[in-house]
Amino acid sequence: MDVTRFAPSPNGSLHLGHAFSAIVAHDLARERGGRFLLRIEDIDGARSRPEIGDEFRADLAWLGLEWDEVARQSSRLASYEAAADRLRAAGLLYPCTCTRAQIAAAAKASGPEGPVYPGTCRGKDGGTGDAAWRLDVGKALALTGPLQWADDLAGVQRARPDLAGDPVLVRKDAPASYHLAATLDDAADGVTLVTRGRDLFAATHVHRLLQELLGLPVPRWRHHPLLVEPDGQKLAKRRGSPALRDLRLAGEDGAALAESLRAHRFPAGISLGTS
Ligand code: GLU
Repeated sequence: MDVTRFAPSPNGSLHLGHAFSAIVAHDLARERGGRFLLRIEDIDGARSRPEIGDEFRADLAWLGLEWDEVARQSSRLASYEAAADRLRAAGLLYPCTCTRAQIAAAAKASGPEGPVYPGTCRGKDGGTGDAAWRLDVGKALALTGPLQWADDLAGVQRARPDLAGDPVLVRKDAPASYHLAATLDDAADGVTLVTRGRDLFAATHVHRLLQELLGLPVPRWRHHPLLVEPDGQKLAKRRGSPALRDLRLAGEDGAALAESLRAHRFPAGISLGTS
């Protein structure tokens, strides 16, 4: 029995890459007699379009996918705040007032999410007005000791949250970052198998550390390969990948499309990435 989820952010329409990811999560839950959840990651008030949740549901139904529950992150902000308060009270968070440009200028390394934050505000008393709050990863790891996590495809991993710099857990403009909200939600929803694209592999190091700090259950993960274009770049609507919505409204057969994706038969020029 596995509980899986598909967790799109409502800042744009879904494309074929999302369809593939949703099918992976849906089919694993169905094969294993589990549950498949839909979570709208609408924490990003400014960029989220409220009506897009309806579009996502229509897209998934068109593909022939049925979900057991829908959750919206915007209805769970209090739980994110409570968790951040606990970490703050434990002395594990610090305020950071750096702008993106300052971080880019100060960074000494680049990671999967861009310039690695070099810890500029750690240990400084810079005040908390208009600050993001970062997790002091070194301090946190000293508390937890070494951690591992398991990916169904890549095997057992040693958690290395230290590689990407201290992550933001509370944003300047939202009560949680993706890392904090997704980790708390997966626990609250009883997700046992987190499926998502390989582009989020590195994020799991941070999520594993948060689970340990907050006493949350530890799921398994499955980071699936991404659909890519001939140049190896992942699909993106801004690079011309068609929106599922447009295919649906044009009268295409969603169930047939889902079958093709399951069989790894992709439209011309699209393939499964190898990294
Ligand atoms: N909301 C994220 C996205 O759309 C996915 C998060 C996850 O699956 O953990 O990329």
